[in-house]
Amino acid sequence: MRKPLIAANWKMYKTPKESLAFLNEFLPLVKDHTASEIAIFPTMSSLGYVIEATKGTNVTAGAQTMHWLNEGPYTGQTSPTMLESIDCTRVLLGHSERRIYAHETDDMVNLKLKAALDHDLIPVVCVGETLDKRQSGLTEAVLRWQIACALNGIKGASCGNVVIAYEPVWAIGTGSVATPEQANEAHAIIRREVATHLGLPCASGMRILYGGSVKPDNVASLMSQPEIDGALVGGASLQARSFAEIIHNSTTA
Ligand code: PEP
Repeated sequence: MRKPLIAANWKMYKTPKESLAFLNEFLPLVKDHTASEIAIFPTMSSLGYVIEATKGTNVTAGAQTMHWLNEGPYTGQTSPTMLESIDCTRVLLGHSERRIYAHETDDMVNLKLKAALDHDLIPVVCVGETLDKRQSGLTEAVLRWQIACALNGIKGASCGNVVIAYEPVWAIGTGSVATPEQANEAHAIIRREVATHLGLPCASGMRILYGGSVKPDNVASLMSQPEIDGALVGGASLQARSFAEIIHNSTTA
């Protein structure tokens, strides 16, 4: 059984003070929730505060990105060892906003994934097609290519903790959510591609999250699909009540 993971991507929102105010309201709302794992990916300046404030709770925190090297002359970057040093356990890799605005390539995502696995950081690797590629009938080709590149050189034995997030670019922050059937079909493509590279046992155990305009009122229908193992939530995770509602509704499918 794949335990669902419901994760918040806070993007470039929330100062440390705002993050702690969120947690004060949010943690009591979800403290009895055991049906899924809960994770928050705050901005780097809030990450240490969120990690400390969630210690001993059922919520964990991770970084929105990292470099693949441990140190070096890379202004603005944070390394895997630096994340480890603040007890960070998770990292988002290859989010489409990083691919678009920070020019992250598939090869860089692959290097980052290898570094995350070397450092026992639980990676969430984001993949997804643009609207243009979907309309050109290239969704499957894009997903298979992104997964093949991300997993290049990775062995099945080390895949235990890897999480994939299917995030169609056209659904992120737009209010245009993929239909549950569209998402399920994309997840099945991703799982088949993972199986090709890492073997069936690894693919069957791997959690694949859906991300893109998830809201309290659409999460249950998405989660009712057999291939959907959780959600990566942007906008609707910024308010404690809304994110808690998503978590509770995700298990009513
Ligand atoms: C995201 O940023 O990963 C995301 C899914 O955003 P939103 O929920 O706002 O579409």
